[in-house]
Amino acid sequence: MKNNDCDIVKDLSIQYIEDMLSSNSREFVDNHLLNCKDCKKYYNDMNSNIFNENIKNDKKDEIEINHLKKIRNHMNFLKIIITSILIVIIVIMTTFSIKYYNISNVINEAYNKLEYMKNLDNYKLIQETTYKNFLDNSMYTVKTTYYYKDGKYKIELGDGIRYLEDDSYNKICVYNDLKQIEYYTQDFIEEKKGDTLNVFSNIRNYKTLEKGISRLGLSLREERFNGIDCYVIRRGNNNSYRDIWIDKKQKVTLRMVEEEYMHHYCETVYTFFENMVKDEDVDSSILNTEKYKNYEKKNIGIHDTKYKDL
Ligand SMILES: [Zn+2]
Repeated sequence: MKNNDCDIVKDLSIQYIEDMLSSNSREFVDNHLLNCKDCKKYYNDMNSNIFNENIKNDKKDEIEINHLKKIRNHMNFLKIIITSILIVIIVIMTTFSIKYYNISNVINEAYNKLEYMKNLDNYKLIQETTYKNFLDNSMYTVKTTYYYKDGKYKIELGDGIRYLEDDSYNKICVYNDLKQIEYYTQDFIEEKKGDTLNVFSNIRNYKTLEKGISRLGLSLREERFNGIDCYVIRRGNNNSYRDIWIDKKQKVTLRMVEEEYMHHYCETVYTFFENMVKDEDVDSSILNTEKYKNYEKKNIGIHDTKYKDL
């Protein structure tokens, strides 16, 4: 009978421990456990086994949770890294885009202005260049004045004058120091309308040749020159550079400064006038007047382009 009780109590052990017995059954088990050492031991062992099992499971869970936490932390870290990289890329691209846009804007405006100037029928351009050589400490200045009116040019350069015409094979060179006037017929057409303004070739090159990445090698700043607000486009660094100064309002190039560190410094200043040239400024018939009476006049004929001067 007692053995039979033992079997029943053992069968009920799980429900007992899990507290799933009715109060009558629980009382029956409690009473039996008070008197039966064997069952008491069985119950204690059971209890501690389940306890250990629970601890094991808890530990397993904890390890798993820790593992998941680690993965989550790694994911968060990756997210932060990727987001940071994306932000840096976006900032760099935005900065470069703004820089490219601003420089391109200035170049385009100056180029459009140059194209407009080339179509003018009346302009005068003074170009003054100062060159300093740091190697031998020498220095010189050159002033060239271009007059253009209705297809005719007069170019004053140093001690000489040159007369030209658009789409013409004729050229006249006046050498004041030699008191000599030479009349040429060339084997090519010297000038097309607006050609004298090729002195602004840098702007044309920036517009037509230097695009994309190479334009990012340029930098833009704003500065004043002779009281005029200017954009300054620089290629190079603080030691060796070429700066082009563009009138912010008129879009005309006012100045070009070139320096090669410890080697040379070269500055050209441009002054541009519209509608100030008179017919007599570009009229070569002045060479037949009293003023040039003492000049030797040479008819050169076809001029070999290899020896083109002035
Ligand atoms: Zn028992």
